[in-house]
Amino acid sequence: PAVRHLEVFIPMGVCPSARMPLLSDNFTGLLRPWARPEVLTCTSWGAPIIWDGTFDPDVAQQKVGQQNLTIGLTVFAVGRYLEKYLARFLETAEQHFMVGQRVVYYVFTERPAAVPHVALGEGRQLRVEYVAREQRWQDVSMERMRTLHEALGGRLGREAHFVLCMDVDQHFSGPFGPEALAESVAQLHAWHYRWPRWLLPFERDVRSAAVLAPGEGDFYYHAAVFGGSMAALRSLTAHCVQAMRRDRGRGIEARWHDESHLNKFFWLHKPAKVLSPEFCWSPEIGERAEIRRPRLLWAPKEYALVRD
Ligand code: UDP
Ligand code: MN
Repeated sequence: PAVRHLEVFIPMGVCPSARMPLLSDNFTGLLRPWARPEVLTCTSWGAPIIWDGTFDPDVAQQKVGQQNLTIGLTVFAVGRYLEKYLARFLETAEQHFMVGQRVVYYVFTERPAAVPHVALGEGRQLRVEYVAREQRWQDVSMERMRTLHEALGGRLGREAHFVLCMDVDQHFSGPFGPEALAESVAQLHAWHYRWPRWLLPFERDVRSAAVLAPGEGDFYYHAAVFGGSMAALRSLTAHCVQAMRRDRGRGIEARWHDESHLNKFFWLHKPAKVLSPEFCWSPEIGERAEIRRPRLLWAPKEYALVRD
């Protein structure tokens, strides 16, 4: 869309309430929000916004190690997304994602035999789950919520304590560790974090379950990364499944599909932690002073190649 490149600079600052929330539930250890005075490091409801330099990765790692946690990472690779993105996503995850922790990858695909063999580090496992292929790419994307909901009620739910759910069309480029974990985690969208609220691409059609009225919506979150505890994710996925079913019954589809419903959910149920755009960055945006160390980089959008 044409407005994509519009830039409105919103001055940012540290949380006015200076005091950071108690962080017993999010494993960050000592946060240093003052280390990044040029960006917003705390939401209005007291959740930390994690920027490079605002946490101590060693403390975060130690805390997770002490609790003997297993961290799940789910990713869908259906149709041509498998050959195009999956190997690099997994290989770079081995280098950067929760290094030193117990990790279980869950790869959902309609062609389990085609999943590439990636050498896994100690304490890391990969499970491949069959998922039927939907015809439309929008349906592949939206159906992820239903599949995830089922998986969270099954083995994934039993073996992992925290789960991050990600798009496959990206690769890790820097350390993505336990500082990203919390009861519920949302990702600031790289293209939209500087936009004024009224311009954010929320669903505005009042017939849709995803609708947000003018003045509603805290941030525009990116569905390429979200996560949390089993309980939080089960309620998130249940909300989205139900909302999408309602829309389908009315013959409508939200503007950005599952992402629109995710944004509605996080408006109603505030995330316990927000990840800065450094955690899921689009290199096409170019250099920005506040983007110090990107953790995940989007692949260039090659829709003609991967979508039918
Ligand atoms: N996806 C897939 N096959 C498809 C369409 C989507 O595997 O045909 C999965 C894949 O994990 C992808 C995610 O759904 O990253 C979301 O789709 P996409 O990345 O194309 O959406 P965008 O990021 O462009 O909004
Ligand atoms: Mn994507």
